[in-house]
Amino acid sequence: MIDVANTDLIDRLSAEGTLAVDEFEELLSTYTPADRDHATRLAYRVARDRLGSGLYLWGVVEIANHCARDCYYCGLRASNAGLERFRLTREEILTACAEGHRRGCRTLVLQGGEECAAEDDGVDELIWAVRKRFPDAAIALALGEHTHTTYQRLYAAGADRYLLGHVTADEAHYAQLHPRRRTWAHRVESLKDLRSIGYQVGAGMLVGLPHQTPRHLAQDLAFLQSFRPEIALVGTFRPAPDAPLGDQPAGSFERTLFVLSLVRLLLPDVLLPCLTSVACAHPRGRELAVMAGVNVLAPNLTPPRYQALYAPYAGKDTTGVETIEGVDRLAERMGAIGYRLIGEGQEAVRR
Ligand code: SF4
Repeated sequence: MIDVANTDLIDRLSAEGTLAVDEFEELLSTYTPADRDHATRLAYRVARDRLGSGLYLWGVVEIANHCARDCYYCGLRASNAGLERFRLTREEILTACAEGHRRGCRTLVLQGGEECAAEDDGVDELIWAVRKRFPDAAIALALGEHTHTTYQRLYAAGADRYLLGHVTADEAHYAQLHPRRRTWAHRVESLKDLRSIGYQVGAGMLVGLPHQTPRHLAQDLAFLQSFRPEIALVGTFRPAPDAPLGDQPAGSFERTLFVLSLVRLLLPDVLLPCLTSVACAHPRGRELAVMAGVNVLAPNLTPPRYQALYAPYAGKDTTGVETIEGVDRLAERMGAIGYRLIGEGQEAVRR
């Protein structure tokens, strides 16, 4: 046990941007609602000082729900034979991007399961087409793990950012969540590859994963501290009924908020999106996440008939402010807590 008050640890994290893994573990094991409020207040201040009242608006297109992998917690896993699979056409993707761009999204996220399609030239052509049509937008990919050559090709085609959650920074815990042929070491290698190529990289974890301990989350924070991603991805674990870990309880929303605040203090300038799993965990999920330090909101641009099929977990919201049609209501809701939605794209990633 560490003989320092939690508020002192949080203050030190805020002042110095660093804590030891044991100190993170102590915080995560013993924090109280008052400690969490303290972290939230500091994280809110840091985010306001950096970006004022602005919240970046990204748009997400779920381009396909095929996946070659079998992560034990995910509804898109290859073995889920009951899931109807889809792949959007290039025109559907460009139309979705155009609608997002028209409504102010200046980062376009192309997201899909991990499949060999990323190895095909078709994905290059798609990225190139998006780049040509929306030259002021940043293109972020979330397409899973691939080879260095593939990452390089997709970057050359015009992608700027790559989102690849590290899931958990503990090797043994990683092995409890994934089939044996994919390892934590390989995931970290991928993240380093992406950085060496020139991408702005998104890394991050899920709060409340099965078998997760405070030590694991402390290791996640220590990993972010050393890797220093440009984008931090902090989600809440939500079970997928058709996955092997589908009977496990969902992660805690309030714990996720605490972790989001710690990440904001750790990486004051990081892009910190409100992921759908967080937004959907509470009726005021986005507002509370913003107050905890989030600075990116990312409505879904996918054509509505496909949104329910992109279901890595149960209970994903496919209506209301989570969609691009709801962006005016989203702007109103954020206005009510003193924020405005703004674009952010190529100027932030100029090579
Ligand atoms: S988490 Fe990603 S890689 Fe794993 S099964 Fe789901 S979509 Fe595929």
